[in-house]
Amino acid sequence: MICLGIEGTAHTIGAGCVRDTHGHCEVLSNCMNTYSPAHGGIHPREAANHHATHLAELIHQAVQKADIPYTDIDLVAFSQGPGLGPCLRTAATAARALSLSLSVPLIGVNHCVAHLEIGRGTIPVCTDPVLLYVSGANTQVIAFAEGKYRVFGETLDIGIGNCLDKFGRMLDLGFPCGPKIESFAKQGDRYLPLPYSIKGMDMAFSGLLTAAEAYYRKKESLANICYSLQETTFAMLTEVTERAMAHTEKTQVLLGGGVASNTRLRDMVSTMAKARGASLFVPTKDLCVDNGAMIAWLGLIMHASGTRMPLEQSSINQRFRTDMVEVTWR
Ligand code: AMP
Ligand code: MG
Repeated sequence: MICLGIEGTAHTIGAGCVRDTHGHCEVLSNCMNTYSPAHGGIHPREAANHHATHLAELIHQAVQKADIPYTDIDLVAFSQGPGLGPCLRTAATAARALSLSLSVPLIGVNHCVAHLEIGRGTIPVCTDPVLLYVSGANTQVIAFAEGKYRVFGETLDIGIGNCLDKFGRMLDLGFPCGPKIESFAKQGDRYLPLPYSIKGMDMAFSGLLTAAEAYYRKKESLANICYSLQETTFAMLTEVTERAMAHTEKTQVLLGGGVASNTRLRDMVSTMAKARGASLFVPTKDLCVDNGAMIAWLGLIMHASGTRMPLEQSSINQRFRTDMVEVTWR
């Protein structure tokens, strides 16, 4: 079975095709295009306009790269939420039109669960991980427990990627700022104290961001601020992940989201995993960021396990929580 998936929750619009090969995910194509505002943060309507401009071409590319005729597509999946309303609506409308014109079923999927399932689908030994999902808008520690994907810890305010991007925006670094902060941080050698903000199993990043911005205004070295920003936030993420692993007794940890590209975060999580005798898995970069292939894969396994979505139930849900998903495939 082949599924074409459309991703469109925030800044990235993507289309990808996947095939089920004996229960594993074979990625046939994964094409994407990211909206990058000239100034400031993401404007939802402008991002949606960007997506509308590029989506038809991306779908065409995804089918061409997969080297299949349109008639080989058995299913169309799309990111139903969570995300920005105008972006979600653009992707959903295209998915509905494609499913109707190809006369194949349509299925809407949860974006956060897709980040976890693409790891399980493409890394055969990664069967039951705790996912540390670190992206621009989302920061969640997710694991499967008692029949559902549950959020064991999450941000109470902004996502970790957004925290890095907002700090970088003050310096006019352009979007995305994470990689630039990472390279500044490599030159840092002095830790500047920042609030370490974990409340129960949840995290907060905005106070820490304000404190980092104050250091910059006081002309502290940029390298040391970036170093301290990474050390503090990544330690918080690693601590919550470890506690979720201890609680669920899971021995695998998976990274997902754009911030998973960061080598310092990988090192910290890897050190934690080793100390616990656990394994760390990181999907390839194009499968870590927002992408159509992960949407296609989750749609495919949901459909294979019997989930059906009539057109009238395919509305988007900006606040689609990870634990609202009925898990039929595990
Ligand atoms: P996503 O929302 O999952 O597509 O990821 C985008 C986010 O990842 C943005 O906030 C980027 O700043 C961040 N990001 C990308 N590469 C890195 C990196 N090397 N270190 C930290 N953050 C990164
Ligand atoms: Mg994402």
